[in-house]
Amino acid sequence: MTKATPDVISRAAELRDMLAEYDYHYYVLDDPKVPDAEYDRLFRELQDLEAKYPDIVTPDSPTQRVGARGETTFEEVEHRIPMLSLDNAFSEEELRDFDRRVRDRLKTSDDIEYVGEPKLDGLAVSLHFESGILTRAATRGDGYTGEDITANIRTISSIPLKLRGNSFPDVVEVRGEVYMPRKGFETLNKRLADRGEKTFVNPRNAAAGSLRQKKSSVTARRPLEMCAYSVALEDESRLPATHWEALQQVKKWGFRINPEMCKATGVEACLDAYNDLMEKRAGLPYEIDGIVFKVNSLALQQKLGFVSRAPRWAIAQKFPAQEELTVIEDVEFQV
Ligand code: NAD
Repeated sequence: MTKATPDVISRAAELRDMLAEYDYHYYVLDDPKVPDAEYDRLFRELQDLEAKYPDIVTPDSPTQRVGARGETTFEEVEHRIPMLSLDNAFSEEELRDFDRRVRDRLKTSDDIEYVGEPKLDGLAVSLHFESGILTRAATRGDGYTGEDITANIRTISSIPLKLRGNSFPDVVEVRGEVYMPRKGFETLNKRLADRGEKTFVNPRNAAAGSLRQKKSSVTARRPLEMCAYSVALEDESRLPATHWEALQQVKKWGFRINPEMCKATGVEACLDAYNDLMEKRAGLPYEIDGIVFKVNSLALQQKLGFVSRAPRWAIAQKFPAQEELTVIEDVEFQV
């Protein structure tokens, strides 16, 4: 193993400190200090150093954990099934590497069937239903412990308070993204600016800030929507065979699923799906920052498992940074 030089060790420590500080501003204060593209660059630099010198990895490194935990005024909720993050691919080559790793692990040269879903830029929520009734809603938090935001979630009209139909398990958890469509974001920021209040940097932070309001009457006035992207059941034998079918089931229960979702077999089809979605991106009524590819077979997902902060069966292929300019403009505007 190559031994890290003092320069490498001190750069890694510096990166960990910077990223931890940015995490705190982003996840806890809902007020990012730097554009996402800058954060992603530093995160990748740290990941590359840690890959080259595995002995410098520390358990508190941002590469080893999900999100950030800060003080909360909400009750804490434990996620029995962890809510993980996603690994990123920033180029075609990185997507090809991901597909190669998946096939190597599954010891197959066959094309893998993936589901491609727009990566909505909002925040992940977990919704628990018992006998079909929404009993608890939580943020992702650090993946293991989130915040109980049930009262606020109940104000979002695209979330069913009671599952439709009568074919659902006694206890089921639906996960998805709460986001703020572009139009709603602009109207909200204008309203805040007119009142001389602080505006939000982007729709993602507006959604996070709105969901974490102490008064649910404030959340109710925020234009939030939700799109479901997975189902979690402790008894996995009750799940259908594929992720695609699981989402069709969730749709029948009354959730919105993303109409741009597609199946793609093999990495070439994934690259086509990426290009198709990128062309549609500007015309969508909400912001997306990439496309998420997930292995469709739930049995294969289980075989692949996960590493510390992300599943091995999914990847987010990011679009080129658009926000870099807008965020910098916003920062200048605020100064
Ligand atoms: P992420 O955004 O990289 O990916 C995981 C998240 O994607 C999930 O938790 C979920 O909320 C979301 N998602 C959207 N659509 C999905 C779908 N169809 N299926 C599954 N998940 C879907 O998550 P993260 O770990 O919260 O954040 C890391 C990213 O956040 C960084 O890459 C960076 O861009 C940004 N960030 C920025 C700052 C900053 O200071 N600007 C700080 C921290 C993080």
